[in-house]
Amino acid sequence: MIQPAPLLPSTLTIQTFATHDIRFPTSLELDGSDAMNPDPDYSAAYVILGDGEYEGHGFAFTIGRGNDIQTAAIRALEPYVLGRDVSNLGAIYREMAHDSQLRWLGPEKGVMHMAISAVVNALWDLRAKREGKPLWRLLSEMSPEEIVDLVDFRYLTDELTPEEALEILRRAEPGRQERIAQALERGYPAYTTSPGWLGYDDEKLRRLCSQAIQDGFSQIKLKVGADLDDDIRRMRIAREVCGDGFPIAIDANQRWDTATAVRWVDALAPYQPWWVEEPTSPDDVLGHATIARAIAPIPVATGEHVQNRVVFKQLLQARAISYLQLDAARVAGVNENIAILLLAAKFGIPVCPHAGGVGLCELVQHLSFFDFVAVSGSMQDRVIEYVDHLHEHFADPVVIDHGRYRAPTGPGFSATMHPESIAAYSYPDGPVWRSP
Ligand SMILES: [Mg+2]
Repeated sequence: MIQPAPLLPSTLTIQTFATHDIRFPTSLELDGSDAMNPDPDYSAAYVILGDGEYEGHGFAFTIGRGNDIQTAAIRALEPYVLGRDVSNLGAIYREMAHDSQLRWLGPEKGVMHMAISAVVNALWDLRAKREGKPLWRLLSEMSPEEIVDLVDFRYLTDELTPEEALEILRRAEPGRQERIAQALERGYPAYTTSPGWLGYDDEKLRRLCSQAIQDGFSQIKLKVGADLDDDIRRMRIAREVCGDGFPIAIDANQRWDTATAVRWVDALAPYQPWWVEEPTSPDDVLGHATIARAIAPIPVATGEHVQNRVVFKQLLQARAISYLQLDAARVAGVNENIAILLLAAKFGIPVCPHAGGVGLCELVQHLSFFDFVAVSGSMQDRVIEYVDHLHEHFADPVVIDHGRYRAPTGPGFSATMHPESIAAYSYPDGPVWRSP
């Protein structure tokens, strides 16, 4: 039996709205370095909403410069929530996404859209805390009708109508309780990107590959795309350490044009890449389809820079991807990601979310657990990315247990950063950034 969702207060008014520009100097260690982003300072444009009793935390992830612009974009949404009743999260998301003037800055893409994600996710964090549940559980206990109400079907109905979405969710209704129990008992498979940053030397690569296997991960990922000879050498080392057949994905972070992608992947094919991630521009749907056909049976994956549900729809329609890598904070937060999970379920494409950065693992695990319980109903061929950086700044950090995410049990969206971390890493006035 599915538990009915507890009654929400009929109104929920936001009384406080605060933003913070938070930056971590990760470029000093080359953590997170890849072919397109050699020196990221992992950052969060962070928002805290209060209803007088609880706080909701949310953020957009950036990699340093521009985090001030991202924070200003979040502040531009203040009139949508401050002093307003935010009990209908479907309506408030659609209102923000279709603001008659701010919409010009997108529409539904880039800085403004990521700002909406920060606010929408903060509202979900607040609601889940009010209800005393982890977000994945709150979503997993909603009725199919309530879930469908959260989605904006505009531009989707040629492929996914509300009726079809209802059908997908109803199909997954039997067994929800068993899957909640499984999620709590077994967690969700993770893979690690930590061994494969481009800035690491061969010895560190070798050591971290064998560490990943010891830690129980069932897949790793290497960054590629800067220099083919280096990539061949690094892939050979990883294959030697991990052994034949062990899944090693590669990630080019949009480095290549279509023909270069095909040539490069052909050269790495003897080392059996598990998938090829972001081979080219995230906007190039047909380019991804061309690459996918040319390198088959090696699968193509993308999504962390895909700007909205419409581009995901096209990637699926064009049979351009075999793995869909949604990101918790690039599209418009929980609501738009529900649309994307439903699209993936319709096409039978496994969702293997992007994570890492700062706080992205904390957020996205909730979406995967929800997908398992209430949308796709499956963990088959699915893994959540894991990177072991910056979790110590969060009040409810992810727990990885022998290569699997443990299902979060604390209330909320796991988005809350410690106040001391917010103060220390605030840019440019926090102590970490002030010159000695
Ligand atoms: Mg990636």
